[in-house]
Amino acid sequence: MIRTVIIVATGEELLYGTTADTNSSYISSRFFGTNFHVIRHISVGDNITDIENAVRDALNLADIVITTGGLGPTDDDNTVGAVCRIFSVEPAEDSPGRDRMVEFFESMEMEIRKEDFRMISVPETSHVIKNNKGLAPGFLIENNDKILISMPGVPAEMTAMFDGELLPFLEKKFGLTENQKLAYKVSGIRESEVNRLVGELGLPENIRWGITAKTGVNDLTFLSDSEIFKERECLDRSVRTVFADYLIDSDFSSPEEELIFLLGRRGFTVSTAESCTGGLIGKTITDVPGSSDVYYGSVVAYSNHIKSEILGVSEASLGDFGAVSETVAAEMAEGIRKKFNSTIGISTTGIAGPGGGSIEKPVGTVCFGFSINGEIKTFTKFINGSRGRVRAFSALYAINYLRKLIKET
Ligand code: AMP
Ligand code: MG
Repeated sequence: MIRTVIIVATGEELLYGTTADTNSSYISSRFFGTNFHVIRHISVGDNITDIENAVRDALNLADIVITTGGLGPTDDDNTVGAVCRIFSVEPAEDSPGRDRMVEFFESMEMEIRKEDFRMISVPETSHVIKNNKGLAPGFLIENNDKILISMPGVPAEMTAMFDGELLPFLEKKFGLTENQKLAYKVSGIRESEVNRLVGELGLPENIRWGITAKTGVNDLTFLSDSEIFKERECLDRSVRTVFADYLIDSDFSSPEEELIFLLGRRGFTVSTAESCTGGLIGKTITDVPGSSDVYYGSVVAYSNHIKSEILGVSEASLGDFGAVSETVAAEMAEGIRKKFNSTIGISTTGIAGPGGGSIEKPVGTVCFGFSINGEIKTFTKFINGSRGRVRAFSALYAINYLRKLIKET
């Protein structure tokens, strides 16, 4: 059964922006793709009336309301008070919590202060949730088909309580199904193109989709609003067909990780000759553990002198076509492959900017070369944006091009 959830995160620091609300993201990510649908995140300060109103509103809208924060010993910890007002109950002491607290302070040879008892206060009649990482217990109230859950704000305490106590409770009570989402990683494709291809899938109304764009890898997700995601297998097949050129296998978190796997499987080795990327392709590849099996190394061939002296690029090519040309990229790729005795050589040469552009070769012009056992492939891209962006996308294009090439052969 689908249950709606609202998370109410409390604490002035969340409103000041000095603390990021990681608790709500954690809880949401644990529910993501299950039959528990998080429909809203609310942040509220420490004022008792504000908390009371936020929780009341949330209880009107959702089946389950989860609060975090405000269970500590200080005057601004007001969650118990707010909840007591909502359900017209009094605060009561949790006696197992008291024993734990007494034991804790005794072991530390510290005196217990009056204020510390606030931590073990819970609304009477609530079901207490153990806190294995701290002193303030959480609690749960069931009322008229609604459930209110309050957990501490300290992220380590909250996550342990959520995973260890709360999820098992919810699973037992409502059942937890995890198959309501299909998630993919796609790379080397623009968002507008993703939009167009999703259109080709002809999604039914009950399936929502979204893309989270990041440099390099985009998360593409499909979520079913229906209890049973009956279109799941069929949709999965269609996505794999329509997005075949861009999908990263689910075993890998990045294109470079998949590239290294594919190279290893084929027994291929790679070296790089990088001009405008200045070693970024090498850095990206060597960020992946195990890359030493397939990656030999790099020459950062920034000057023409190095391009010709070390990589054997001909003076004629440099003179006739310029350093930023597919001819030079081809010679760089073949040069590094021979020099390092690898199966594959990759090269980049381009104008990262902000200066150095011309009408024929504007800033952002990048030429790529690949030599695969002496078979040469080249292409040119025009990349918009800052120097950093031109370099980052150049590295990404090079890695994605090779990944697709090896996948297809
Ligand atoms: P509290 O439970 O209000 O006493 O908060 C204890 C600690 O947890 C404080 O350091 C808070 O800044 C931190 N905290 C509270 N709520 C959150 C949240 N939603 N996300 C991340 N940290 C939080
Ligand atoms: Mg607080």
